Amino acid sequence: KDGLSKTRETIRDNISKLTQGRTEIDDEFLEDLENILIAADVGVETTLNIVERITEKARTETYRSEDELNTMLFGVMEEMLLDVADEHPADFEAPLPAKPYVVLIVGVNGVGKTTSIAKLASNYHKSGKKVIIAAADTFRAAAVEQLQIWADRAGVPMISQGQGADPASVVFDAVSSAVAKDADVVLVDTAGRLHNKSHLMEELAKIMRVARKKVPEAPHEVLLVLDGTTGQNAVSQAREFTKCVNVTGLVITKLDGTAKGGIVLSISRELRLPVKYIGVGEKIDDLQIFDRSKFVKALMG
Ligand code: GDP
Repeated sequence: KDGLSKTRETIRDNISKLTQGRTEIDDEFLEDLENILIAADVGVETTLNIVERITEKARTETYRSEDELNTMLFGVMEEMLLDVADEHPADFEAPLPAKPYVVLIVGVNGVGKTTSIAKLASNYHKSGKKVIIAAADTFRAAAVEQLQIWADRAGVPMISQGQGADPASVVFDAVSSAVAKDADVVLVDTAGRLHNKSHLMEELAKIMRVARKKVPEAPHEVLLVLDGTTGQNAVSQAREFTKCVNVTGLVITKLDGTAKGGIVLSISRELRLPVKYIGVGEKIDDLQIFDRSKFVKALMG
């Protein structure tokens, strides 16, 4: 159970319906294939590339059975979907390049930011790393309370101040504590308000400036959390965020709840940002390191 069954089954069922009893590819077949891939949200460009490649192959090859046809189709899809330069799967076990390693987590409310922070904390913690969560979304009291519940579940300490406290001050506390306690990772929750962009930018800038007083290279990573069920909305949200802050990687959540999991494959191309993690459920263990080749293989199942 990898949380991707909805997308996988949809792709697999549709393609097997398409190839049933067939050994030849015609225009109608190509159009149907195109629609299946578009529906799974693998992206228009990728879809067209796949269809073109299959057209090319079909011109020179013949298939003696439905199986042979399927093998070719899945082979081409896998090859095209894997074709992204310079993507390295994250690794919770590996030594981190800095100590403390400061990760800023950004994203609008409701996308799964709190849950994702807890999942990351739990993974780092389980890999033997000392983690501190900084509750720097001080705008909503409920946000801090929620995060505390999740921090407890993950078994890691959280640094917070009262509601309305200066987020930068919380972050300064957290990185100071991390330095003093020799912690490995600081995960910083930030405010999820995008409607007031200049305010958000100022807030993030101040957080970074203050963090750098203690940790010169901070933040080492800026993760943007996006809800995978929102399709192109997630893409436009991401475009807005990348105007505010130098995002280094994406977390795509709620993939268990959608048959359009192909979004993970197209979004990195569209935004030129690597997907680092995917959320596949509401529990603390429902986070996976995104590994394109594993993901594509799981989808092609
Ligand atoms: P935040 O407002 O961005 O901090 O979002 P939360 O972390 O509170 O999550 C919002 C809702 O999405 C909650 O009901 C979570 O349980 C749910 N959620 C978060 N991640 C996932 C996921 O990967 N899969 C599913 N099915 N639900 C998720």
